[in-house]
Amino acid sequence: MAIERTFSIIKPDATRRNLIGKINAKFEEAGLRIVAQKRIHMTKAQAGVFYGVHAERPFFDELCEFMCSEPIVVQVLEGENAISKNREVMGATNPADAAEGTIRFEFAKSVGENSVHGSDAPETAAEEIAYFFSGLELVG
Ligand code: ATP
Ligand code: MG
Repeated sequence: MAIERTFSIIKPDATRRNLIGKINAKFEEAGLRIVAQKRIHMTKAQAGVFYGVHAERPFFDELCEFMCSEPIVVQVLEGENAISKNREVMGATNPADAAEGTIRFEFAKSVGENSVHGSDAPETAAEEIAYFFSGLELVG
């Protein structure tokens, strides 16, 4: 199996409720290593670029407002099949559909305020990591 890196965000609803440690424990229990991590507060423009693929969706403005409302934690997770493994650990986008034991099942408040983001493919993982981290911050 391939060792991959994926990009993760602990979203404002989770940082606000002091859940960073509990969410990181879920990643580590699943065998994902947190190889880079920092706390930032995005501008609305930065959120708009990050979520540009959703620009035409009806929830785009609400999503960008939410993501810049308070600090977030951006991370790089590494491990075997990290991209799909992280999506499993996160659970379904809508917490009502998320499997028991997943982050979104345990912590998400709604389909919008769903506690975490994770890349959905190798290309997006590489782009998203490069948007938030420099090579010097990725020491493995
Ligand atoms: P993410 O990209 O954050 O990892 P995802 O891939 O499960 O989540 P997407 O379909 O890519 O979900 O949507 C991106 C984000 O947009 C969701 O995580 C959620 O915060 C928000 N979102 C998605 N659908 C809705 C909706 N119907 N109403 C409000 N916000 C939504
Ligand atoms: Mg997505």
